[in-house]
Amino acid sequence: MSIKNIIGVEIMDYVCNECKRKYAPYEFPYICKCGGMLNLDKANTLFSINNIIKDEWSIFRYLKVLPFHMKSNLWQSVTMGEGLTSLVALDRKDPNILVKMDYMMPTLSFKDRGAAVLIAKAKEFGAKKLVQDSSGNAGNSVAAYANRVGIDCHIYVPEDTSPKKITMIQSHGANVHIIPGTRADTAKAALNAANEDGVFYASHVYNPYFYEGTKTYVYEIYEQLQGEMVDTLIIPVGNGTLLLGAYYGIKELYELGLIEKLPRIIGVQSENCSPIYKAFKEGKTQVEEIVARKTQAEGIAIALPKRGDQILEAIRETDGDVILAPEDKILDAQRDLARKGFYVETTTASTFAAFNKFYKNHKSLGKVILPLTGAGLKSS
Ligand SMILES: [Zn+2]
Repeated sequence: MSIKNIIGVEIMDYVCNECKRKYAPYEFPYICKCGGMLNLDKANTLFSINNIIKDEWSIFRYLKVLPFHMKSNLWQSVTMGEGLTSLVALDRKDPNILVKMDYMMPTLSFKDRGAAVLIAKAKEFGAKKLVQDSSGNAGNSVAAYANRVGIDCHIYVPEDTSPKKITMIQSHGANVHIIPGTRADTAKAALNAANEDGVFYASHVYNPYFYEGTKTYVYEIYEQLQGEMVDTLIIPVGNGTLLLGAYYGIKELYELGLIEKLPRIIGVQSENCSPIYKAFKEGKTQVEEIVARKTQAEGIAIALPKRGDQILEAIRETDGDVILAPEDKILDAQRDLARKGFYVETTTASTFAAFNKFYKNHKSLGKVILPLTGAGLKSS
């Protein structure tokens, strides 16, 4: 009997980004045999402002554009009311600059958008055990959602991970595996564990369902602005977890004829770790690994983003750009945001450090939205 018959929902295949080979998701593949990243082989979605489920107060109010069958209700045991975050002016003096308060989430970061969808799918596929490697917000979020629905959760972290973060992950009931060596050694240990039979790799980088969750970021904007879209989205980018979700979301709105043009996506990187910036400015279509220096924007410090080609496509297709966060301005930006009422972590502050510098010479960005991706309590 196929999984489809057991749980009565539609299963989308994974399709390789490189060679287009297809895989059934209930076999838990996380990468193509050719080494390519997996995307979803998606059917067209039907969506309009009229078929939002208005009495569902979570990201699942957009069920019609999420990869779930209408009759599937497994997500109901997963959701903690994530999403529906406020969209407000950064400062009343400039109504064109809005912030979306994505740190107002069950685990205090935007990652809950992706984790809620990914864990609901893992449950649907019958996963009993999952692994993930992250010492930051994604690990925290996956641990919370996985344990909520009784999936045995194993999070791999590098040995220099702060005890505070380890405690947060463990407090949800997850097993934390502390791996000696570098961040790459941790990734390798997680991949080894993911290769065991019956283990689901709940990676926010590899698994395309995560991006299905983060695309709700733009559906909410669309709904909050009553069917309008802004001109520019400023988005911090390391692995592209939010940037790619936002890109797929605006593309769907555009292809459905709901918005007239794609907003520009401007990615923000740390000046100490900027492989995407480098590839973009050099006109390349692939991102090459760089040697990263230490940065306070730790959430986006990724020396080799696995979906670099997709990130570059998103920026180019939207006539976007990549800008850099000056390291010596990040703490100032964090303090300035707190003075305006928003206490955010340093990775979020780096987005504003980059934007403040860029905006001085680019006042014609139109209406702009910046995300507040993580709460200050997490990094202090
Ligand atoms: Zn392939």
